[in-house]
Amino acid sequence: MSYSAKDMATGRIIRLADGVESLEPLMAGGRYRCRSCGSALTLRGLKEDSQVAPHFSHTSGGPCPNPGREAELDAELEVVIKFRDRLRKANPGITCTLAAPGDDDPTDPIGLPPALIVCTAPDSTVVVERPGIELPGSGKIRRRITAVRDGHGGAEHVWFLRRDRFQFGKLGTLQVRIDGKDEEHETVAPTEQQEAIAEAGGSVYWLDGQLVQVPYGVHWFLHPVRAKQDWDFPRWRRGEDPRKDWRISHPRPRVGADAWGLVPLPLSALTRTEARFRPAQAHHMMESLARAESARYNWRRNRAFALYKERHQQPASAPAPMPEILPDPEPTQAEPAQPVEPQPLADASPALPPAETEPWWEDVARQIGVDVPPMPSTPPALRPAGEDDSGRDTGACG
Ligand SMILES: [Zn+2]
Repeated sequence: MSYSAKDMATGRIIRLADGVESLEPLMAGGRYRCRSCGSALTLRGLKEDSQVAPHFSHTSGGPCPNPGREAELDAELEVVIKFRDRLRKANPGITCTLAAPGDDDPTDPIGLPPALIVCTAPDSTVVVERPGIELPGSGKIRRRITAVRDGHGGAEHVWFLRRDRFQFGKLGTLQVRIDGKDEEHETVAPTEQQEAIAEAGGSVYWLDGQLVQVPYGVHWFLHPVRAKQDWDFPRWRRGEDPRKDWRISHPRPRVGADAWGLVPLPLSALTRTEARFRPAQAHHMMESLARAESARYNWRRNRAFALYKERHQQPASAPAPMPEILPDPEPTQAEPAQPVEPQPLADASPALPPAETEPWWEDVARQIGVDVPPMPSTPPALRPAGEDDSGRDTGACG
């Protein structure tokens, strides 16, 4: 017994709690199908003198071969309905309907609750998914994406996932710096389905109470060791290699990212403007992460050159022209996460002014707009691991 069915006449999902006025009784020419197994259903309990409340039963007479899923589908539908009602309440004036794009074959259901089709203006549609417990396979996800694109061209397709073991593959955390402030972002291992959504231009968000988490791609790489560089930075985060760095892909994670980092936002930031679900604030943060990435990249390379130079200083009596190391152009976001090819130093080596009053890497740091602490005249005492690095590392973002 269930209280919802696929309506083969309209392609929509029938929910008996919404009212039965427009529904025909009993088999209705095969109009009603089970959302779990795809079998024909019979609508009972419509008569005024009926002893039972309206419900669907399998026309074959037996129970659904997949009764657990049948109950789950009803429960998932209720979640979507509540979500719809919440949206309508928060955004009076929008239209918000349920549909099941791509779910036309009752013998092969996609396994997603109906999507919410949110029209915020005549030419502005957002299709919102709130999947149930498990995400269907990536083939079925793509079927839904294609159907949404065909039926609602230009619509934003956003997926609100759950922070549970089925939909949230927690990895760890990532230290980041956003607009000059250190923060810690959670990271997840994306599934094939989540990558398929991002690849198709959809948006994946995780809901966590009143928070929403917006993913970006994290691509790990090792800085290549070039000539005249020392990478054994003193006072670096204990046990970590300063060559280990990462690049971001955004505003959506690129397929093949090693992990997804998550920007946390209040859910209201997504829906404040007529339920547009555009995380402009998250995208702004990702741009800040990309700026920090360029500065961090240059700061570490230049630090490696400077360290080598400090250790191989020429005697003051015999000054020799030293190569000036110009900061590299910023690495582009579209670049694959591969080590950068070494470039011959001779390509960028005009002579440096002979007299240096301070370590030249401080000068380089200033050129790229970075604030760095002055070099101590005597080595400072070692600080506990972790205390010293993040500021020096990501501090390069200014
Ligand atoms: Zn069934």
